[in-house]
Amino acid sequence: VVEGQSIENLIRVLMAFPGVGRRSAERMVYFLMIDPSKRISVLTEALHAVSERVRRCRTCNGFAESDLCSICSDPRRDETRVCVVAEPRDLDAIERTGIYRGLYHVLDGLLSPLDGIGPRELSIEQLLHRIQNNRPEEILMALSSTVEGDATTSYIIDLLKSTGISLTRLARGVPAGGSLEYLDTRTLSQALTGREHIVEQ
Ligand SMILES: [Zn+2]
Repeated sequence: VVEGQSIENLIRVLMAFPGVGRRSAERMVYFLMIDPSKRISVLTEALHAVSERVRRCRTCNGFAESDLCSICSDPRRDETRVCVVAEPRDLDAIERTGIYRGLYHVLDGLLSPLDGIGPRELSIEQLLHRIQNNRPEEILMALSSTVEGDATTSYIIDLLKSTGISLTRLARGVPAGGSLEYLDTRTLSQALTGREHIVEQ
């Protein structure tokens, strides 16, 4: 940080966040500077806690504050179903519907060869190991209806179609090109309830 440029530097750090433009970044910085000793320490402590405590769940690759996340360690969840999502925020969106009681698997992205994201960049290997060890009855593919989402679904279905596991996907109520995070809870609930079989066993 160049001397005398600390505020400009912070604005630029904030502008790197999704959906934050210069005006929003400036407003956040000015907000912090109204009571800096308090507001900055609250923010610093929150960032520190996340950085120290949050890691990936050993089983599902979602966010966790111990070896297993709160969903994987909950005995009331239905272990026979695994819902495959691209990112932790998709998991959160499905949890908000309150309909799904199974487990999850977070891929950490979608296949995108042009961006250099192949199967090895995603947690597909981890998913296969998990399926081999736990033999679930259903794998629900809950990826977005984008080119990358559909390609990733097809790739995983090809790997699993001979396993004898029921393979399902969200109903086509998900708008084409739509990302899960933009779906309202009702639409997502309908997509979950009306899920379609890709490979029925
Ligand atoms: Zn987990």
